[in-house]
Amino acid sequence: MHLLLICFILVSVATTGFELALRVRQVAYVARHRGAVPPDFADKVGLEEHQRAADYERARQRLGMAASLFGLLVALVWACVGYDAVFGWIQEMVPHGLSRSVLFLVAVSAMSGVLALPFDILRIFGVEERFGFNRTSPGAFALDKLKSAALSLGISVPLLYGVLWLMQRPGPWWVWAWLGLVLLMLALMEAYPRWIAPWFNRFTPLEGPLRARIEGLMHRCGFEASGLFVMDASRRSSHGNAYFSGLGRSKRIVLFDTLIASNSEIELEAVLAHELGHFKLNHIVIGLVQTSATLFLAFFAIGWLCKQSWLLPSFGITQKDPALALAVCVLVVQMAAPIVGIVRNWVSRRHEYQADDFARRMVGAEPLASALVRLSRDSANTLTNDKLYALVNFSHPPLPMRVQRLRQAAMSD
Ligand SMILES: [Zn+2]
Repeated sequence: MHLLLICFILVSVATTGFELALRVRQVAYVARHRGAVPPDFADKVGLEEHQRAADYERARQRLGMAASLFGLLVALVWACVGYDAVFGWIQEMVPHGLSRSVLFLVAVSAMSGVLALPFDILRIFGVEERFGFNRTSPGAFALDKLKSAALSLGISVPLLYGVLWLMQRPGPWWVWAWLGLVLLMLALMEAYPRWIAPWFNRFTPLEGPLRARIEGLMHRCGFEASGLFVMDASRRSSHGNAYFSGLGRSKRIVLFDTLIASNSEIELEAVLAHELGHFKLNHIVIGLVQTSATLFLAFFAIGWLCKQSWLLPSFGITQKDPALALAVCVLVVQMAAPIVGIVRNWVSRRHEYQADDFARRMVGAEPLASALVRLSRDSANTLTNDKLYALVNFSHPPLPMRVQRLRQAAMSD
């Protein structure tokens, strides 16, 4: 067996082992603290709610463990025999050319998608259903999946044709591929709120006194958006949220109907001030730059790896095709994903604190704190998290830390 394949296997096993160990720590920590609500939240969260959150966390972690073990198995099978076998089948049916390469990559990603499907089904119709969060039916779920598959085919097939064509030209193809992907990302940010999101949900303009209140807030923050919408999130799940989407003229603020149903007006205003904070503090642009830079490094590595004659033989692959090289490169480059994820989460948590701070200055600490506590309680998020687990996995700071920070800052105001 070649050194690179051994290295890939070792890194994959180690990464999954680390992930599992963190999940075990999290489950143990939550179980240890299941008996009592943390004192700071004793007046807001009942013991029964606290224990339900602990049980929900345990159920999610168990499913997560099964999914990551299975994911490891799938990655190893792809690397050791899968790519070679699938390419062999396609080679027998389709003559040499760009279409054969594209078909191979589409087949691989479709198979990976189908293999991940049982875990999605278990999550929604098992765990989410058991804890009362699921609102979707098997039919609606299947329709959602079909729509997503059609959408990703529509976007990825032309992209793959372009990238594989570029790979056969002289010169640094990966720079053009990277540039194309970044432009596509920008175009999708513009297109998503207008054309893609309405395919999955209904968006109705926000009306009534809440609208006037939020427009007042937007005015105070010096923000112009082309829309303020309510999304019928309740058709899929009862988890509440709000988000900000789009760039330029299509930018809009979206509130989940589930969020509106359970929060007071001032709390909603605080949640929106947090979202506006992300915009005002340039977090959207920083995120874009961060993603583009990460992609640049990934493409640089792929561009170099693809040229190496030892790449495919080192994975035991006897055939030669740019699509095979691309698939193997992605496996190799993905080994760095856990490190990238940790850095991204760290940056994201800093941004969350900054947006909280913005909301505190605009609306006040208490409304935001109480909305965050309610959101977390209603979604059965546990208040007790293992520190190391949170450090690696959380894109948002744990709720107790956010609330503590808000209150401390309010006291020194
Ligand atoms: Zn945020």
